[in-house]
Amino acid sequence: MQTPKLAITIPCYNEELCIESTCRRLLEVMNDLIKRNKISAQSYIYPVDDGSKDNTWSIIEKLHQEFPDKIKGLKFIKNYGNQSALVAGLEGVRELGCDCVISIDADLQQDENAIERFVEEFCNGNDIVLGVRKDRKTDSFFKKTTAIMFYKLMALLGTKIPMNHSDYRLVSYKALKLMEKYHENAFFLRGFFFDLGLKTASITFDVKPRKQGCSKFNFWSLLALALNGITSFSIVPLRLIAGLGFLMAVVAFFLGLETVFEKLVFNNTPNGVATIIILLCFFGGLQIFCSGIIGEYVGQVYLEVKARPRYIKEKELV
Ligand code: UDP
Ligand code: MG
Repeated sequence: MQTPKLAITIPCYNEELCIESTCRRLLEVMNDLIKRNKISAQSYIYPVDDGSKDNTWSIIEKLHQEFPDKIKGLKFIKNYGNQSALVAGLEGVRELGCDCVISIDADLQQDENAIERFVEEFCNGNDIVLGVRKDRKTDSFFKKTTAIMFYKLMALLGTKIPMNHSDYRLVSYKALKLMEKYHENAFFLRGFFFDLGLKTASITFDVKPRKQGCSKFNFWSLLALALNGITSFSIVPLRLIAGLGFLMAVVAFFLGLETVFEKLVFNNTPNGVATIIILLCFFGGLQIFCSGIIGEYVGQVYLEVKARPRYIKEKELV
């Protein structure tokens, strides 16, 4: 097999403090792999500026001028979020051409030395190589616990995503072509590539603390990502509602029987007033809760039906 042409895509949002050092470090890693004949000399880096408000794009332009063949790039018109930037990176390198692509964060928290092992697994015939973090030492207690809860919940709902798999992964051109067939707007890439059914391997890597800048995720963006992951891959919550509804109907039936029995035998109905109020509150709450879950799915359907473009390109360096 010929040495593969590797593309590296980097989603970047307000990363002026790290994007230059990250690109230079990745170039170093790439040049070393080229020298050792592990990847082709046409390999390149493709950062996607997710509508940054700082100097991220001008730094990418400057790097493109310095290394026109090695550093290309794409800029969104506004901030669309990390998953859209990742999808744009994958679609961009599919257009530009490559044998495989690796996505990595701009802060280089993920160990760049693992790139060689990703490529080796690709050369061994794997179409997807998942990066799995060895531990979560660098995460805050909150992020660690919520992440574990999320993966456990996904497993419970019947969606298999490897625990601690991040968006650091290699995808072959074949998988990129398959992606074309999926027209959904809300891609949840961690689940998507694992679910494709192609030959998949995983490798473990170390996570470093962020050196410059701060995390671009807050509680709400993480919650949105988790909800997107759940609703785009599982209809189990909907089934649970049906099951719960059935269970409640059975309970209500026996309660009704009991009320009739009390009325006929003891004739003391006023005592039941409290029960009625409790039941009213209970079922009222339950119904609202269930409607909320249904609302999540309706929201997804709504977004998909609108079929808005996932992003609009403002500029592209090729
Ligand atoms: N990112 C992005 N758009 C956003 C938020 C984040 O492209 O709206 C990028 C960010 O620049 C980084 C990657 O997604 O390259 C992961 O973000 P970050 O390192 O802040 O997340 P954390 O490591 O804290 O989970
Ligand atoms: Mg990070």
